[in-house]
Amino acid sequence: MKISIIGTGYVGLVTGVTLAEIGHEVICIDVDAQKIEKMKQAASPIHEPGLSEMMARNIAVKRLAFTTSHQSGFEDVDVIYIAVGTPENEDGSANLMYVEQAAKDIAENVVDDVTVVMKSTVPVGTNHKVKEQICNAVKGRVKIEIVSNPEFLKEGSAIEDTFLGDRIVIGSDSMEGAMVVAAINEPFGVPIYHTDIKSAEMIKYASNAFLATKISFINEISNICELVGANIENVASGMGMDNRIGSQFLKAGIGYGGSCFPKDTKALIQIAGNVNYEFDLLKGVVNVNKKQQLLLIEKLNQCTDKIEGKRIAVLGLAFKPNTDDMREATSILIVEELIRQRAEVVAFDPIATENAKSILHPLVVYAASVEEAVEGSDAALIVTEWEEIRGINLSVFQKMRRPLIIDGRNCFSLDSMKEYPIEYHSIGRPAVT
Ligand code: NAD
Repeated sequence: MKISIIGTGYVGLVTGVTLAEIGHEVICIDVDAQKIEKMKQAASPIHEPGLSEMMARNIAVKRLAFTTSHQSGFEDVDVIYIAVGTPENEDGSANLMYVEQAAKDIAENVVDDVTVVMKSTVPVGTNHKVKEQICNAVKGRVKIEIVSNPEFLKEGSAIEDTFLGDRIVIGSDSMEGAMVVAAINEPFGVPIYHTDIKSAEMIKYASNAFLATKISFINEISNICELVGANIENVASGMGMDNRIGSQFLKAGIGYGGSCFPKDTKALIQIAGNVNYEFDLLKGVVNVNKKQQLLLIEKLNQCTDKIEGKRIAVLGLAFKPNTDDMREATSILIVEELIRQRAEVVAFDPIATENAKSILHPLVVYAASVEEAVEGSDAALIVTEWEEIRGINLSVFQKMRRPLIIDGRNCFSLDSMKEYPIEYHSIGRPAVT
């Protein structure tokens, strides 16, 4: 099948590369000419384990190509995927500006009948509106099918998630469209769930909202654990053994960030609000997360007389390990607050530093290693649980001016900490002093 993909961000590029890997002929289109040039040289613009190698392999056998031209990108294609961003508007609703532009690009450049596949996360009803927009513009010149095919990959394990996903959701109002998308995906060997378009759109939001709820729930329990003297790790293990609950997403920490959960939870509150439904539970989830994201600062304030003038090491900047994505990363809020309280911030991240530089305050100093960041510091805040941080020899922290660790991701066991003269505070567990 010949496939064109509009938008080569985290989703579009991974989709394009993996579809090429299973044998399709794929052309990826992006309006960012610099990005396209880079990708033509087989250089991935994002950090994603295994992506560069797979990309190079498929470019070499000519199954994968890149262009900035929608016109040439749509030549002879059977299917066009939309994988552009749907960021949040100020009121929390999804901004559909890029989706509407992609629909316009299709309408203006498509010359043959085509199936449009929506990969972007879009509010219920959007697929129908996009079909209408394209059909109104092409005025019967070509036949358009639209299929909702929401994406469930996780940054940091996107390739693995594509080949070993739990399900592929295909939402279609026509058997023909559903069969085309099912045939494309069949080689992945992942179970396919067929449904109608609106339900597919809702499955994506409901899934992310549910996972965010699990995170906020366990974070609330962890805060109570601290107050009553229980240990969240023991609590989560005991809860997770119940199959009805499941052990995943029960890791207490400093809240969720990233390009999806924050915006998708708020968008779902808006989607509900548009039909006069108050989604009280999800509003609570969002508020709990906001509070949790600044917990490390609260703990730091409890451990130090004042933050002003202190050298604080911030370990981990990306919104989660194995990605360079800084969108809505909790580190942004933490660093902002440290700078506001006049701390000297020394930050370390193994991969996301370049992206962080354009986002974080210019006063932030970047270290090349955990050792360099913590040396001479008055406190170390662990924000992202990179392996480089979890696996560090704890003796490194003895080089601090004051060996004080406040760990937002529970990277270290309490027993291992007890072997060092380090003050250690984590989430939902007793402090080691
Ligand atoms: P992104 O912002 O990383 O990438 C979007 C790309 O689209 C950019 O490179 C941009 O230049 C390009 N683009 C925008 N308009 C274009 C147009 N008219 N023609 C060609 N290119 C255009 O976005 P992303 O993180 O890949 O997310 C894409 C969608 O997938 C969003 O709706 C998001 O919610 C959803 N999603 C993301 C993830 C994730 O982990 N990132 C996971 C599941 C779903």
